[in-house]
Amino acid sequence: MLKYNDALTTILDRVAPLERKRLPLEECLGLVLAEDVAAEENIPCFDNSAMDGYALRAEDLAEAAAESPAALRVPERVPAGQKPAFDVKPGTAIKVMTGGMIPAGADAVMPVEHTEDVGETVLIKRSAKPRENIRPAGEDLKKGEPALSAGTELNSYRLALLAAVGAAEPLVHPPPKVAVLSTGSELLPVKASLEAGKVRDSASMAVLAQLREMGAVPMRAGIVRDVQSEVESRLAKLAESADAIITIGAVSMGDYDCVRPAVEKLGEIIFWKVAIRPGSPFLFGRLRGKWFFGLPGNPTSAMITFEMLARPGLTKMMGKASTRRMVERAISEASIQDRQGRRSFIRGVCVSNGRLLKAKPVGLQGSGLHKPMAQANCLMVVPEDVAEIKEGDEVEVLRLDT
Ligand code: AMP
Ligand code: MG
Repeated sequence: MLKYNDALTTILDRVAPLERKRLPLEECLGLVLAEDVAAEENIPCFDNSAMDGYALRAEDLAEAAAESPAALRVPERVPAGQKPAFDVKPGTAIKVMTGGMIPAGADAVMPVEHTEDVGETVLIKRSAKPRENIRPAGEDLKKGEPALSAGTELNSYRLALLAAVGAAEPLVHPPPKVAVLSTGSELLPVKASLEAGKVRDSASMAVLAQLREMGAVPMRAGIVRDVQSEVESRLAKLAESADAIITIGAVSMGDYDCVRPAVEKLGEIIFWKVAIRPGSPFLFGRLRGKWFFGLPGNPTSAMITFEMLARPGLTKMMGKASTRRMVERAISEASIQDRQGRRSFIRGVCVSNGRLLKAKPVGLQGSGLHKPMAQANCLMVVPEDVAEIKEGDEVEVLRLDT
């Protein structure tokens, strides 16, 4: 069986970022910029006031003080967004608002707090330093200055920077559209009443949400029965619109496990089975030119193989270097026995006391269970060559909550 690291490397070596595309800026959160963006003009493009106050000449206030204020004539009050009609001449001041344009002739802004409005004139109660409270044109970015470079992941703050330079439709790696198809004649929709032999399709709920969490575009494909021809026709149809396809279930050694033959017929199996626990029957392949991830159906297996194998591949399709899951070292608070030869991902809870991270398994470790995954905030990793982690040993944990 393929080792986990070899399986992951195979996926990352094969998968490439999706073709770059222009998207409206408001759709770009979490995407990777695929071009360098520079300011095409000074940002801001004009000298403006940092305060609500009076634009004036600092030299007119050389003698100004609380007990002997300078009196300046105010020919104009300028609201935000308007150009001043007058220049500031000796002995005058123009009232400006924060962000308002500095009139020609002014070299400082006196905040209203230090002034007294007496009608035609304003009394100014202290002196000013040249350039005080003036934000110069190009203070944020000079014309031609790089704003962001290709490869940058766009967070909320970077979206604001692109908005400020007018990059309304930046070139990005688009998020993959990923179809999720649950297989199993025993599966019922979530709202159905249970009956003997049937279970609700819970695993796809997790995988669709995991896709949304990572910024991919989930396409809910519903449930297909364990009938070879139905599985094949559904997959062929999904490949027409999706960038990648995920199936849940029917990928092991069962009599009705249709996924492997379907991928063989419609594409190519790149590998099947990985030395991990849970989730060893994971399949990676190509189907009608689209990437294919076959997750085992046990809910915990589906969630963990998505996390450990499908997610990194999809992250690469988005042009990102890492999945951003935090891998940390923790002290195990329990002893864990494990069969050697596979890498195990133990559902666990970790807590930090500020300096030291401690982790312990949570609940039963059966792959068909839901509750331990719902309680876990990390996976504790037991490498292939380790049979026991003793209480107090260091263990690698993958945080699910970051
Ligand atoms: P399979 O991988 O198809 O052999 O399924 C393994 C186990 O997972 C069986 O008990 C299935 O009933 C269960 N299972 C398969 N698909 C799902 C699903 N989408 N949601 C919940 N359980 C599932
Ligand atoms: Mg099945």
